[in-house]
Amino acid sequence: MGQLPLSLRQRIQLLGVPIDVLTHTEAIRCLQEFLIDGHQHHVMTPNSEMLVASCTDAAFREVLKHSDLNLPDSSGLLFAARWTGQRLPERVTGVDTVTHLCAQLAPDHPVYLLGAAPGIAERAAAALQTVNPQLRIGGTFAGSPRAEAVADIIERINAAKPHVLFVAYGAPSQDQWIARYLSQMPSVRIAIGVGGTFDFLAGHIKRAPLLLRRLHLEWAWRFGQEPSRWKRIGRAAVVFPILVLRYGKEAPRN
Ligand code: UDP
Repeated sequence: MGQLPLSLRQRIQLLGVPIDVLTHTEAIRCLQEFLIDGHQHHVMTPNSEMLVASCTDAAFREVLKHSDLNLPDSSGLLFAARWTGQRLPERVTGVDTVTHLCAQLAPDHPVYLLGAAPGIAERAAAALQTVNPQLRIGGTFAGSPRAEAVADIIERINAAKPHVLFVAYGAPSQDQWIARYLSQMPSVRIAIGVGGTFDFLAGHIKRAPLLLRRLHLEWAWRFGQEPSRWKRIGRAAVVFPILVLRYGKEAPRN
């Protein structure tokens, strides 16, 4: 991206959803700009399964279309870009984005970890703090994406005044939650839906070895770790390619 203003950055379209053309390093630079530009930003990390969901869930597609940054979390998006004559330079995963952003955050930009099973966000925060002593953790809370939990969560976050909010409720809940409530948390400059990131950071789920990730086989590893995900993996590995081959850059007409 170099010195290119964010408004001129390049985006491709897959199934009617914009995806940002950024390397990992450029994505972190972009987040650093978001921190100081005076606006609130919703960052998403779409994967193949989320794009499949967007085809039947119009509200979720709108959230994906209006977020400020859509980072390609899964290999499927890189293949889909190629099949449709477009290009994405590399995967920019949620877990790598959280890890690298936290490594660069100054103490005057506190972070808050919301979501995952009870205790996991605390463990993830402790792991981040161990390798990044400069990082200021504003707070952690499991909470719940359910409507009755919203007031309590917003009160906690507004008391902690974080600049960066990581939300781990899985898609689409986490991103719908951010889209709906970000404006009620005025200290938050960047809110990112991070899926299973806290589980990885806490060591609750083991990430695929680098070789499998390089071979684009992380999905097979996750299936081995969590066989109950077979339906979700099927949507990503089978339904997504079929939809992309049929509709390409456009959203399917419902
Ligand atoms: N989660 C949660 N509350 C919910 C549903 C999910 O805290 O009501 C958490 C779950 O514990 C996990 C994360 O949301 O930590 C989502 O993980 P998932 O594996 O679905 O995300 P992915 O990495 O596949 O995007």
